[in-house]
Amino acid sequence: MKLVLLGPPGSGKGTQSKFLVEKHNFIQLATGDLLREKVSNKDSSLGKEISEIMNSGELVPDNIVIQLIVEKISELKNKKLIFDGFPRNLNQAIVLDESLNKISVSLDKVIFIDVDYKILKDRILARINETNEEDRRSDDNTDTLIKRIEVYKSNTLPIVKYYKKMGILKEINGMSSIKDVSQQIFNIIS
Ligand code: AMP
Repeated sequence: MKLVLLGPPGSGKGTQSKFLVEKHNFIQLATGDLLREKVSNKDSSLGKEISEIMNSGELVPDNIVIQLIVEKISELKNKKLIFDGFPRNLNQAIVLDESLNKISVSLDKVIFIDVDYKILKDRILARINETNEEDRRSDDNTDTLIKRIEVYKSNTLPIVKYYKKMGILKEINGMSSIKDVSQQIFNIIS
């Protein structure tokens, strides 16, 4: 099974991915994590460039992200996969379909976690306040958050329509408890 978890920043994609990994044997492919891994090599000029883009809240160029994910897809072809934070625009969605088709697989479901934008802001602000400075993600700050939500609305939301047309979109209410959201996801995949 191949799933996409789609939703705005702070909607709980990471938390719900962990649940799918721990309880249902999925492998999580999170482009944000893959990019942070690249950035941890601060000596590389590419790492520096990516880090600046991530801290601004903009999207990292498609060619970089797509290369990272395509490598993983062929490696993990036969596994249960969750795509978390990818695709984030229409071009990435199309490339994902093409890459999966090439290895004779396709997406089974796209789970769209819908969350009110006001609640999102409160959640991310809480995440910022609850984490020690040294453990905090460098893009967890109010300015970047506002930009990330704008980028989500203009680049990522159009994908919802694309998957709706394909008939694989499942929308869930992301405003209830973590447990309830997990249950909604479980109902979809079982
Ligand atoms: P995330 O960990 O998913 O919240 O992503 C953190 C940041 O990484 C985003 O704000 C983007 O700058 C970058 N990023 C993650 N995934 C993608 C993607 N699929 N396309 C472009 N940029 C991405």
